[in-house]
Amino acid sequence: MIDYSDSKFESNSSNELLSTSFVSEDAAEGSLRPKRLSEYIGQEKVKRNLEVFIEGAKRRGEPLDHVILHGPPGLGKTTLAAIIANEMGVMMRKTSGPAIEKPKDLAALLTNLNENDILFIDEIHRMNRTVEEILYPAMEDRQIDIIIGQGPAATSICLELKNFTLVGATTRSGQLSSPLRDRFGIDLKLELYTPKDLKKIVERSAGILDIEIEPEGAFEIACRSRGTPRIANRLLRRVRDFAQVYGEGIITKEIADNALVRLEIDKCGLDAVDRKLLRSVIENYGGGPVGLDTIAATVNEESVTIEDVYEPYLMQQGFLTRTPRGRCVTKKAYDHLGIDFVGQTSINLQ
Ligand code: ADP
Repeated sequence: MIDYSDSKFESNSSNELLSTSFVSEDAAEGSLRPKRLSEYIGQEKVKRNLEVFIEGAKRRGEPLDHVILHGPPGLGKTTLAAIIANEMGVMMRKTSGPAIEKPKDLAALLTNLNENDILFIDEIHRMNRTVEEILYPAMEDRQIDIIIGQGPAATSICLELKNFTLVGATTRSGQLSSPLRDRFGIDLKLELYTPKDLKKIVERSAGILDIEIEPEGAFEIACRSRGTPRIANRLLRRVRDFAQVYGEGIITKEIADNALVRLEIDKCGLDAVDRKLLRSVIENYGGGPVGLDTIAATVNEESVTIEDVYEPYLMQQGFLTRTPRGRCVTKKAYDHLGIDFVGQTSINLQ
């Protein structure tokens, strides 16, 4: 039996551990990123289609059609964009929607691309409208109109661009304007990963990081990573610390399980915020329906974080449902938290 009772590892970091956004520690992510489509684990449907589109474009000697990738953070959108560039044998330039402040910033990026290069715009739904409008003719006709000078002396000139592929990534497909969405020829939706695929990702990362891990240990981490490779890799590094301090350096099922309990990540992969969220809907709102903003205020998180990070997994696991009148907690959540299920319909009938 391993003694985890001392205070070397504080559990209050579980929030950051399960966060799907990029935290400083993820700078080590680079080495873990698959470089080719054959190394990219899971997302079989997306991979199969992409293989055909890439092969077709290569045979025609054309750039790949513009691609939009959607899915929650940490699922592999940036990785996939870089893989597309590798498979096409071109360079990729990376930026993000909020980073492009003015039309001239986008014009500079576009005019600096080489023939068939990829421009990757992360969080493309957060690009401002005046910048977005520059993209339309660029994507369609490889042209941009820019205004030179000010006032009555201002003139508009039309610049021809080289062939290029725009790869956009978004966590919010609903927030993309339809003129922008319509200009992407290839639309790919990434799904949360299965534990089986995440186990392969954990084992692959362990191999690269030279971490000894037993298959059951990898599966334990996989099952508690909310279907997200970025979280799986982060948990792997944390569990490694436990294995080195309390064990022989090998990640076994027991080490993984105990470490994750210490990090407050339960058997279903829920962290303290998930449980607080479900509990507050049950205790304060009879299990729902309740609005997103109310939930956000109760758990002290931003609504976008609840929507992008917490909800996808809670819904995929069947703990939460979204109805036109608001969010509802399911019986499965009551059972998981050990709270008696009264039944939302019986409350409404009284
Ligand atoms: P996103 O851009 O969707 O936020 P990233 O592409 O940055 O996600 O992926 C986060 C990390 O997860 C990457 O560093 C990579 O190591 C890992 N990863 C993502 N998808 C896969 C995959 N299909 N196979 C292996 N590792 C993956």
